[in-house]
Amino acid sequence: MSARLVLLGPPGAGKGTQAARISERLGVPAISTGDIFRANVAEQTELGRRAQRYMDAGEYVPDEVTNAMVAGRLAADDAADGFLLDGYPRTPDQVRQLDGMLESAGTGLTAVVEITADVEEAVARMLKRAAEQGRADDNEAVIRRRLEVYAEQTAPLAATYADRGLLVRVDGMGAIDAVTDRIMAALAPRLH
Ligand code: ADP
Repeated sequence: MSARLVLLGPPGAGKGTQAARISERLGVPAISTGDIFRANVAEQTELGRRAQRYMDAGEYVPDEVTNAMVAGRLAADDAADGFLLDGYPRTPDQVRQLDGMLESAGTGLTAVVEITADVEEAVARMLKRAAEQGRADDNEAVIRRRLEVYAEQTAPLAATYADRGLLVRVDGMGAIDAVTDRIMAALAPRLH
């Protein structure tokens, strides 16, 4: 099965948690732009140095930096038969670039899953994660900014994918297992 999936949803909706589970069930790699950026920041690579100040402020890393990174990652062998993108695309330019990457590969998306979340619940989850994991961008001011940037720049992409008949919306509130089951059930008719 070759599922090519995008996960959309505000910070705190549980994309990372669900991405790991869905990728395991479908046997496709989960590609998280946030995780790749954080690993590069930790290793102080050139990419990490370019991304860090945006991440610390809750702003998006510039499109040209992000697009180049994703193009490289999608060209790796393990993504040839499918992937789950977590955190990309997040801007209209990223949508266009992803379209181009898939077109050159002669493929297209299977579905776009939008995980919806209550804003205050999302903030509470991220503050809890901050206490447990100490993620640099999980403080309340930056969390609020990330939610704002998502609402302005990324939430509208759901309509773009809905127009293409690709959008599946899933309620991200409730137990982790329940959300995974909802996502798998919503995807089932589209996987073959
Ligand atoms: P969250 O969705 O919880 O805010 P992520 O781990 O997905 O966290 O992303 C963390 C940060 O990495 C973002 O705030 C942003 O600075 C950067 N980032 C991740 N993905 C993208 C992207 N597609 N475009 C631009 N910046 C990104």
